[in-house]
Amino acid sequence: MNQQSGAKKCSFCGSGLLSNNFFSGIDNTKLCFKCIYNSKEVLDKKIQVETSKSNVFNLNKKIKKPSEIFNSLDKYVIGQNEAKKTLSVAIYNHFNRLINNLKESDLEIEKSNVLLIGPSGSGKTLLAKTLAKIVDLPFVITDATTLTEAGYVGDDVENILLRLIEKSDHNIELAQKGIIFIDEIDKIGRKSESVSITRDVSGEGVQQALLKIIEGTISSVPVKGGRKHPQSENLKINTKDILFICGGAFIGIDKIIENRTNHSPIGFKNPFMDDKKKYQGKANEVLPEDLIKYGMIPELVGRLPSITTLDELSSADLRKIILEPKNSLFAQFRKLLSYDDIDLEITEEAIDFLIKEANEVKLGARMIKGVFERIMREAIFIAPEHKGESLILTPENIKSKNYFKKN
Ligand code: ADP
Repeated sequence: MNQQSGAKKCSFCGSGLLSNNFFSGIDNTKLCFKCIYNSKEVLDKKIQVETSKSNVFNLNKKIKKPSEIFNSLDKYVIGQNEAKKTLSVAIYNHFNRLINNLKESDLEIEKSNVLLIGPSGSGKTLLAKTLAKIVDLPFVITDATTLTEAGYVGDDVENILLRLIEKSDHNIELAQKGIIFIDEIDKIGRKSESVSITRDVSGEGVQQALLKIIEGTISSVPVKGGRKHPQSENLKINTKDILFICGGAFIGIDKIIENRTNHSPIGFKNPFMDDKKKYQGKANEVLPEDLIKYGMIPELVGRLPSITTLDELSSADLRKIILEPKNSLFAQFRKLLSYDDIDLEITEEAIDFLIKEANEVKLGARMIKGVFERIMREAIFIAPEHKGESLILTPENIKSKNYFKKN
């Protein structure tokens, strides 16, 4: 930039307004500020269109068919077909919506955030973690209960956005297209008797803060996270295109449904009933009004229109979880023991034994993992002294802890 005085004319528009402010380019060309401003606008628009075109191209490359997403989830998650279908369609729609909105079509497609309702240990978090691996977009998994603990509500909600920005390598445009999974959303819905001046115990304030980012807002996120600090740099992120998936067990919602329908939603009562009887993902059994009665604010429920229910896992499911997923519990321990050159096998009776133990605590697959881990801890503790041997798990050696012939 070079400022000169004297009466000169703009080489572009010919105006003689160059007395003080003008830009002197190469070859002695001069441009008035009006022309500079106008060309900047034209260039910005062009860059915007080009970026948008390349984003559409990138998204077109990343998009997967619902059936492909479903099949990928199927490799890791047993059962829960309704939830898998809902999530596959939600992700597919998310991509198509992003592509559509980038093309500036006159029809705006609304977001369809998902609410997963299912008992503890039925695979909600596993579904989210698996999706995060499959979907080529920034993905954050978080827990709503941490939001109440910190007390200073707004900041914590913004922390989720900061994590999304970090997952996107500080590419805000990319972060704005990301996905956020918020677990234990039911825990901030509870009404509490205790009243506190400094903390919002009922969780309603947290729900309000979440509502803001879920329905779409331009949020100001402090770079360092935590509380807003006048000195800290803030990043602006528009949340209108971020897809939200919420999960919760909603313990006790069966009573609300029961009161409304005069019948019990099968499956919420007995977590380990047989396949036929179990709650077959009847998402339509849970209505928005039930969630509002449970303690969720109506506006938040309204922003989670895609509700799906996860089945209680049956004994047959637990058996599959031990053996079938790509990274099944058995496969993981077999691998671990292979480092000591030990071949791990398990008998049918031992599997039944594990399932029986886990069922006693009624925490779904989470417990089967706990029981299996406890047993294998004992075995791995002595494994290096038994290199080259084979270990066949039976109810007898699980009980006696004599895993190897010479313990
Ligand atoms: P939730 O979030 O519903 O409480 P999780 O997804 O955390 O349950 O499940 C705990 C663990 O149990 C998982 O890490 C996984 O090992 C196992 N698990 C749970 N549900 C399934 C499932 N449907 N298929 C395979 N493994 C499962």
